[in-house]
Amino acid sequence: MPSINPTNTPYSGAAMPQAVSDALVDFLSGQKKPVHLHEPYFTGNEKKYVADCIETGWVSSVGSYVDCFGKDLSDYVGAHAVPVMNGTAALHLCLKMCGIKPGDEVLVPALTFVATANAVSYCGAVSHFVDIEPGSLGVCPEKLRGYLEGLSEEARGKIKALIVTHIFGHPADLEGLRAVCDEFDLVMIEDIAEALGSTYKGRHVGTHGDMAALSFNGNKIMTTGGGGAVITKDADQAAHAKHLTTVAKTPDPYTYIHDEVGYNYRMPNINAALGCAQLESLDGYLAKKRKLAGAYEALFAGIDGAEFMREPENTKSNYWLNTILLDSVESRNAVIDGLRENDIHVRGAWELLNHLDMYKACPKMDLSVAEDLAPRVMNLPSSVFLVDDLQA
Ligand SMILES: *Cc1c(COP(=O)(O)O)cnc(C)c1O
Repeated sequence: MPSINPTNTPYSGAAMPQAVSDALVDFLSGQKKPVHLHEPYFTGNEKKYVADCIETGWVSSVGSYVDCFGKDLSDYVGAHAVPVMNGTAALHLCLKMCGIKPGDEVLVPALTFVATANAVSYCGAVSHFVDIEPGSLGVCPEKLRGYLEGLSEEARGKIKALIVTHIFGHPADLEGLRAVCDEFDLVMIEDIAEALGSTYKGRHVGTHGDMAALSFNGNKIMTTGGGGAVITKDADQAAHAKHLTTVAKTPDPYTYIHDEVGYNYRMPNINAALGCAQLESLDGYLAKKRKLAGAYEALFAGIDGAEFMREPENTKSNYWLNTILLDSVESRNAVIDGLRENDIHVRGAWELLNHLDMYKACPKMDLSVAEDLAPRVMNLPSSVFLVDDLQA
């Protein structure tokens, strides 16, 4: 790899974005074009298990792969896991099961995927946006505590829960946030859609809060086509989640009775078959992604104004999407443009949720850190297989 800016002199004007795109074009020169942000990777038993579903006819709502996937996932995460049809449904169930009802407010980071806030709306509740910290891009516990302390008792009384998103795979400050939740009597739900395989102080994310939601969408670290899971440490809660995903039908063999308003949220067997195969490979994916992250970190070490986001202290990130922070939104856009010409897809972070039409009127705290960082964040191509074809 050529050494970039060996003297480490600050860039000026368009020189820095140019250096970033040159570095990435060179870094990814051995890859098949276009280079996407995150592609699925099937090298294990995927075909075999999916073919088995088709041959036996067990493609839909019941079958051995769903049970097997739930069990394997539970072993992997270290808590009960109930497979569902997508991550958004998993979030919706978590909120429902934690008692979130119309009129309640739920604290949601301003920087997260829109599904996090949508799930709150599905419950008839209101998202209340909170700020993030620069290290993890997750919710900032100190700032949140100060904010909650400053609210009137009445305003505080409406707030029932906090959703913590582990952005791009980097675990948020779970200990700090747990303490704030305990202090203010809030339920803590972890949105671990992007963070399968990430740990905080040695324990898998999703086991530090009250409940958690996983996603296996096609762009996540592993996929079931579409899918998700509800994670809980409580066996009764897991059984109830499963009941809710299967339209709350009672098990009686002679009658068709549903004992509450349930959902058709279960994961089809054919998707679970894909999941069983992907899960077998997950540790290998994590090792490759860690190696890719190391290579990116080295690549950007010499470029002033483009900072690679390392995993926070006391955590292990799955490095789902490698991320750099640029010095300005203009630089970021210039890099995106430069790379598009080279068939390399990168992207900025989501628009802050408090800017979206349907969430503009929601309550929020000062969001200055999110407002500053979000427009400067850029995700890099992070598919598991990229590391195999890196130029030496
Ligand atoms: C992907 C994602 C979701 C939603 O998962 P789906 O399976 O696409 O419904 C929720 N939250 C975050 C942070 C995500 O990245």
